[in-house]
Amino acid sequence: MKYNALKGMQDIFSPDIYIWQKVEEVAKDVFSAYGFQELRAPIIESTDIFVRSIGETTDIVEKEMYTFSDKAGRHITLRPEGTAPIVRCYVENHLYNLPSPQKFFYSGPMFRYERPQAGRFRQFFQIGAEAFGVGDPKIDAEILSMLRLFFERLGLKGLNFEVNSIGCEKCRPDYKNALLDFFSVRIDGLCPDCKRRFDYNPLRILDCKVDTCIKLREGAPSVTDFLCSECKKHFNTLLSLLNLLNVPYVVNSDMVRGLDYYTRTTFEVTTKDLGAQNAVAAGGRYDRLVEDFGGPPTPAIGFAIGMERITTLLKSSSNQKIPIPKVFIAAIGAPAEKEGLVIADRLRDKGIWVEVGYTGNSLKSQLRRADRLSSAYVLIIGDDEISSGKLKWKRLSDGSQGEIAFTEVYDFFK
Ligand code: ATP
Ligand code: MG
Repeated sequence: MKYNALKGMQDIFSPDIYIWQKVEEVAKDVFSAYGFQELRAPIIESTDIFVRSIGETTDIVEKEMYTFSDKAGRHITLRPEGTAPIVRCYVENHLYNLPSPQKFFYSGPMFRYERPQAGRFRQFFQIGAEAFGVGDPKIDAEILSMLRLFFERLGLKGLNFEVNSIGCEKCRPDYKNALLDFFSVRIDGLCPDCKRRFDYNPLRILDCKVDTCIKLREGAPSVTDFLCSECKKHFNTLLSLLNLLNVPYVVNSDMVRGLDYYTRTTFEVTTKDLGAQNAVAAGGRYDRLVEDFGGPPTPAIGFAIGMERITTLLKSSSNQKIPIPKVFIAAIGAPAEKEGLVIADRLRDKGIWVEVGYTGNSLKSQLRRADRLSSAYVLIIGDDEISSGKLKWKRLSDGSQGEIAFTEVYDFFK
């Protein structure tokens, strides 16, 4: 019997896993400096949570969710994104009673039933962050600056920061009407999904990936022309703060994002180095969502980074360092093997990576394994070494060698 991973699912192991770990480490370091604390929410939630927040006429909810019934008949969904579960957690645990802003980051797998292709998987990983309780555009700027620092620390260059404002519940209706006017004379050419979106949420037509819809929306009214005075002020302040913090950005007034919960600021970080799947991170404000989930009015903003796309960029841009064992202990004969095992354990206790040879392997085959592992040092123990109390060491990088007493081994590698 031969088994394969499910379509669109990936195993991640050496050497790639070291890039993944590096990205997670950098994220944790950078986000901590901005006061974000890790939050681990469950991977499955009630389906409602996603339908309500992401929106019924979005691609995610219409086509992409892994939804099933559990044994008690509950409607459950494998999370397609990380914001809604955190908002659920924030409201459920009354975290709004704590001083604002409350800032969280998360990392983990997300699930979307999409057509698998380069940069697009059915299980994919995101690292994301959410900040609750502050409407001031200063925090929008901090979030974008934090993202900029994250990419800088990873050594990723040439990324574009695209920003936009999609308004609030006050100005959105005017824009919606303008879109309805624009599309009402073009409705026959829209895809079946967009025909439905026309009735429920015309903004979604702007995010459709079907070629004919992309063509048809050329010349559509731009959301930035419809912002109310507060939204305009919010957006302009954000842009001036981005200038102050030297976050390079372009305003992309066509960007509406694929989820319904956004208000005001939206942004995407894109690259030209990944072909069609060009977004490596995306986010925005969602000032209504906490209230929609039964909490008090609480402005909020967040983003998510696509791990697969980042690691792909890093694989092609950096020469990767793969960890190697520090010491390989080759032993010949039963007493030497025992001694070697004890020495190995003591070194490991100090955090040193040690490999040992196994019973029945010749010295030659043990040395070959040390070589294949690129171990920094080899220690050789046999009957002679046991009786003299000294063992031979060899450094594989330059072939230098010598002898040390058993009792000095720990100091030697410290
Ligand atoms: P896209 O337009 O590429 O479908 P999206 O708008 O659906 O992206 P978001 O929901 O904003 O994506 O998720 C944030 C980031 O997560 C994306 O910018 C991308 O890097 C990553 N991402 C989204 N869907 C996938 C996927 N199916 N496979 C791998 N990464 C993904
Ligand atoms: Mg998508």
